[in-house]
Amino acid sequence: MGTVCVVGDYVVAMDPGAPVLRDAAVAIEQGRVIGLGPAREVIEAHRPELVVGGKGRVVVPGLIDAHVHSRERLAAFLFPDTVAPDEWMARYAMPYHASLDERAERVAVELQLATMALQGVSLYVEAGYVHLSAHLDALRRIRLRSILCPWLWDLPEFNRTSPDEVVRVADELERSVGEFKGRVSCGLAPISASTCSPELIREAKRVASERGWRIYVHAASTLSEVERVASRTGMTPIRYLESLGVLDRDTVLVHAVYLDSEDVSRIARSGSGVVVCPVSGAMKGKGLSVKGRYLELIRSGVRLCVGTDGGPSSRSFSPLRAAAFLALLLKDLSSDPAAFSSGSVLSLTTTSASEVAGVRGAGRITVGGPADLAVFDLRRSVGLLPLGDPVQALAYGDITSTAEHLIVAGEFVVRDHSLVGVDVEALLEEAQEVVEALR
Ligand SMILES: [Zn+2]
Repeated sequence: MGTVCVVGDYVVAMDPGAPVLRDAAVAIEQGRVIGLGPAREVIEAHRPELVVGGKGRVVVPGLIDAHVHSRERLAAFLFPDTVAPDEWMARYAMPYHASLDERAERVAVELQLATMALQGVSLYVEAGYVHLSAHLDALRRIRLRSILCPWLWDLPEFNRTSPDEVVRVADELERSVGEFKGRVSCGLAPISASTCSPELIREAKRVASERGWRIYVHAASTLSEVERVASRTGMTPIRYLESLGVLDRDTVLVHAVYLDSEDVSRIARSGSGVVVCPVSGAMKGKGLSVKGRYLELIRSGVRLCVGTDGGPSSRSFSPLRAAAFLALLLKDLSSDPAAFSSGSVLSLTTTSASEVAGVRGAGRITVGGPADLAVFDLRRSVGLLPLGDPVQALAYGDITSTAEHLIVAGEFVVRDHSLVGVDVEALLEEAQEVVEALR
């Protein structure tokens, strides 16, 4: 594809050098942004082959979901919404995971990717794959950016990986993503301090560090995890991970609900990023508003962003909704509406998320950066009208339409509200068939 100009009433670049631009355009070519500015000037300067967008549109960086269990997509509405985390895990999630064969995982991942793409998500961090080929197939068809991480734990129940297998698993992953030419990158996901041996966590960190990858660990996510780690080691999960030598800038802690002040300081010192999954946590009654220390984390300078977690945890696939939920929680908790702004809501799914995930240039629109753009036609969501501050509209408004376009690495993944190259109806039929067989 030649040069494309994406035009909007607003371009929300999320770049310090470019605040919200009015009547603006983004020119893209060969996967990169090559122009950004007033629409007429950009179009004149770049003489595009194609112009999309226009009146009533807002152009934003492709959104980022920093923690996604794609495997769980089929179970989004299968488990009760009234069970606590331990029962949820033992009685529902584990039997579901154990029942998923390679085909079911492929269907789940494809449907997850389709759902995310239609919401304007261009990049996600996979929380843990079992059948790698299922994810590679889905990513060939739905061309999102991804950080793929194998599910690593060495409890006996399910898909056990021993420490001496980590190199082989990482080699297989590294070899496999070559075909995506940088669109898909790698990480490792030792699932948590209570489901992995210390040897497995250390080995995952060693192998990841050698290759310049990050590790993504569920940490202080449930009370039973905290209790199990305390009874085994006498430490909190954060202090325990620190004692293993794995807390640093290339470690990402997921959930981080049950922290004390000392944990917060240690996370801040280490430079580790934190992914909060607020809708998931609140749905399971984890007590985010009572136990969470998210304001303290932010004020301590910890890099923080949001994830949607799994379908049957959040029952929502919108990182914007997750970000808004966290913002409202923090405004209310602090009795201070200034505790969180609409710009900060967007940053939780764009700039901050790209820093935590470790994908350079993602989450902002900047000349020379990756051409990952989402276009929303505000006129399709009546609740976002009349036009006013587009950042507030996206952060808090009811977006009732799919993204009009999603462009990832310069290619259309969603065009005119439709997924490119994917028959969504056929995919949904296949998903329903797989779900019926699982019941
Ligand atoms: Zn998770």
